[in-house]
Amino acid sequence: MVTDQRRQEIAAGLTAVRERIVTAELAAGRTAGSVDLVVVTKTFPAQDVTVLVDLGIRHVGENRDQEAEPKAVALKGSGLVWHFIGQLQTNKARSVAGYADVVESVDRLKLVGALSRAAADLRSPDSPLRCLVQVCLDDQPGRGGAQPAQVAEIAAAIAKAPGLTLGGVMAVAPLEADPDVAFARLADVAGEVRRNHPDADVVSAGMSGDLEAAVRNGATQVRLGSAVLGYRPPVG
Ligand SMILES: *Cc1c(COP(=O)(O)O)cnc(C)c1O
Repeated sequence: MVTDQRRQEIAAGLTAVRERIVTAELAAGRTAGSVDLVVVTKTFPAQDVTVLVDLGIRHVGENRDQEAEPKAVALKGSGLVWHFIGQLQTNKARSVAGYADVVESVDRLKLVGALSRAAADLRSPDSPLRCLVQVCLDDQPGRGGAQPAQVAEIAAAIAKAPGLTLGGVMAVAPLEADPDVAFARLADVAGEVRRNHPDADVVSAGMSGDLEAAVRNGATQVRLGSAVLGYRPPVG
């Protein structure tokens, strides 16, 4: 059971981030309501997700298959759109393709192949798995994401892969960099992808600490966890 206190905490967090998003949209000269909110529910229990559903949230994000799969099963029928946002090993592709609606962290051709085979096998042709290319915005590889120079090739592979559809791009700002510089670079990469794939117009950028910079630089979707749900112990 969810306590009334937890319900109120989540409602207050959501009200605060909705205000932050509208303020950022207007400050950037954009239309209020033009940026979608994905609430990142990793480490929080399925009961918290039911509260989000009651509060009108439709998009949730998870970054580990072992955690996401049982939550998605527990919330089946809720109408939620599940975004997988974590580093993904090819041996988990089949599991993720079974419950996720969007995979935001596609960063290599081998993963495109694995997701395509799984999606073509498991999903109906009218609900392809939406994929975003995760772009690495720092120069140290290892935290996931394709180098900007590889993005066009990965995007093209998704666009023609059976079972998949290309949604756009995603990135996480590097820790020690100016997020405006990073997200401006992402906007350039997103523009190049759109030249070849005009419908792939999603730019997923911005977390609790940097959503304003993301909205200033054209994000169409922000991914917010702690600002909505509260403190999340760091995972090792
Ligand atoms: C955890 C996570 C978020 C949300 O981070 P907060 O700082 O809690 O808003 C967004 N995107 C990705 C890829 C994440 O792993």
